[in-house]
Amino acid sequence: MLMQYDVIVIGSGPGGYVAAIRCAQLGLKTAIIEKYATLGGTCLNVGCIPSKALLDSSEHYHNAAHDFATHGIKLENLGIDFGQMIKRKQEVVDANTSGIAFLMKKNKIDVYQGLGSFVDKNTITIKKADNTEQQITAASVIIATGSKPSTLPFIKIDKKRIITSTEALSLTEIPKHLILIGGGVIGLELGSVYARLGSKVSVIEYMDSIIPTMDRGLGRELLRVLKKLGMEFYLGHKVTGATAKGKEVTVTFDDPKGEKKELKGDYCLVAVGRIAYTDGLGLDKIGLTVEERSRKITVDGHLQTSVKGVYAIGDVIKGAMLAHKAEDEGTLVAEQIVGQKPHIDYNLIPGVVYTWPEVAAVGQTEEQLKEKGINYKTGSFPFRASGRARASGDLDGFVKVLADATTDEILGVHMIGPRAADMIAEAVLAMEYRASAEDVSRTSHAHPTYTEAMREACLAATGNRAIHI
Ligand SMILES: Cc1cc2nc3c(=O)[nH]c(=O)nc-3n(C[C@H](O)[C@H](O)[C@H](O)COP(=O)(O)OP(=O)(O)OC[C@H]3O[C@@H](n4cnc5c(N)ncnc54)[C@H](O)[C@@H]3O)c2cc1C
Repeated sequence: MLMQYDVIVIGSGPGGYVAAIRCAQLGLKTAIIEKYATLGGTCLNVGCIPSKALLDSSEHYHNAAHDFATHGIKLENLGIDFGQMIKRKQEVVDANTSGIAFLMKKNKIDVYQGLGSFVDKNTITIKKADNTEQQITAASVIIATGSKPSTLPFIKIDKKRIITSTEALSLTEIPKHLILIGGGVIGLELGSVYARLGSKVSVIEYMDSIIPTMDRGLGRELLRVLKKLGMEFYLGHKVTGATAKGKEVTVTFDDPKGEKKELKGDYCLVAVGRIAYTDGLGLDKIGLTVEERSRKITVDGHLQTSVKGVYAIGDVIKGAMLAHKAEDEGTLVAEQIVGQKPHIDYNLIPGVVYTWPEVAAVGQTEEQLKEKGINYKTGSFPFRASGRARASGDLDGFVKVLADATTDEILGVHMIGPRAADMIAEAVLAMEYRASAEDVSRTSHAHPTYTEAMREACLAATGNRAIHI
């Protein structure tokens, strides 16, 4: 029997599964197709969740090794059971992915395991692991097929010694010397995991700063902190090759003057970005093509492709490759299908780096405001002046608020410091309601909390009124 649905979602990452749940909540008969055995996509299986599990474990170890003594805590025979660390990471992943399976059941969403591909704009074939095929139909289809790691054209990923983030999350040993190609978010998070566990980590980055898409001040402070952790950086250096022989990898690169250099290590992590994934989707069957370089699917302002009733969301379309961006788009498409008029303000999607200290930002950077000729004022507050940060010993970093010079409206917030990933929510909410720096500065913030740094930065932005500096 040909199953008929209102909506079919292809891909079960944060874009797809959220879209499916919202569709079901709105009364639409919904199916979701996932080619892997577990739901949750990149984010839950080999992205956000496992990386955060390892970041937390390695942070505990690092604190025990380096900071506990100052707290008066003595430890003897401190060691790492790396196998247990990876096992725990997998348990965290499994708990999350089975949680999504439960949510599918709870919302009466039919789950199909297999590769989904278009027959026509309303019909999808599911190729299952046992080579059988099944067709299902729907009035609307949401493509949420995500992305995969990309590499440099001259580097072959062997998944053993020359690896991507996926393998870096499941190594069987702690690298002695990890050579990291790329100083972006994913690379630095995983690099800091292994640096904390004792690996020598060398980062080679083509640009002259790390996390180059974020406000420059954040990159400078993060660089200082990661160097303190022992990571070494080759900025403005261009990788020319990476080869593996036995247990050794050799990475060759040019320095800014064009001189040849070489590093040898036991693992090379290639973290140079991700590329949209549409393999096997059969886009040609419905007359869709992908953008040449990014492989992304083109959508309009309603996230509809050029084929009516076929939408695309998340990493497979333009914009930041972030789980919460994919989730918001999943919700938007579901609500649009039932005739609602939802809206996403892409300027207010926060970006976070889960190093320690964490880095988080929302809105415009100083560089963007200068480029647009917008007059702005700045207020900063360093964590070393925060009582809460003194108590925990997290003195690195700052909060920087950028506000319109005339209206005082907050235009951007950039922070690096303890729990910045959680703290950025206040800035997002303030900006969503178009708050001024003064609005936030007049809002009570519990003492002592890290969030007081946000209030102090807003006070600083409204005419040098910060209290604690
Ligand atoms: C190491 C790492 C850490 C990250 N950390 C963070 C973080 O902390 N915060 C954050 O916001 N983002 C993070 N990201 C990015 C985040 O994982 C992605 O932005 C997010 O997963 C995108 O969601 P999506 O739904 O678009 O696609 P995905 O999560 O990639 O899911 C797509 C799914 O579609 C399936 N699929 C593909 N084609 C088909 C087909 N034809 N048929 C059936 N199924 C198909 C795939 O198997 C996959 O499960 C991280 C990524 C990595 C790699």
